[in-house]
Amino acid sequence: MISGKAMAGKTVVKGRNILGRVYRCPVCGAELSVIKGGSGELKPICCNTEMIMLEPINTVYVCSVCRSELMVIKNGENLEPICCNKKMKIKTRLY
Ligand SMILES: [Zn+2]
Ligand SMILES: [Zn+2]
Repeated sequence: MISGKAMAGKTVVKGRNILGRVYRCPVCGAELSVIKGGSGELKPICCNTEMIMLEPINTVYVCSVCRSELMVIKNGENLEPICCNKKMKIKTRLY
């Protein structure tokens, strides 16, 4: 399911709280995404219900110059974020 096939740089897919991991509340549809992964046991609660971990992981791009990071909220087809005049690298993604 999670293969570390990044184009460049390191792929952070180890540990429980993976960067970009998405959780959804089955009651109201609220969604969360991990923007800083840790090793704790993440159990987000919404509407008195434990949120469901979803399969998709939001792609995160990182700038190799200034270390800025972007998270994709809604994907497109030709996404190509630029920072510091350079193409940003993919840090995490689903496939
Ligand atoms: Zn909710
Ligand atoms: Zn930059």
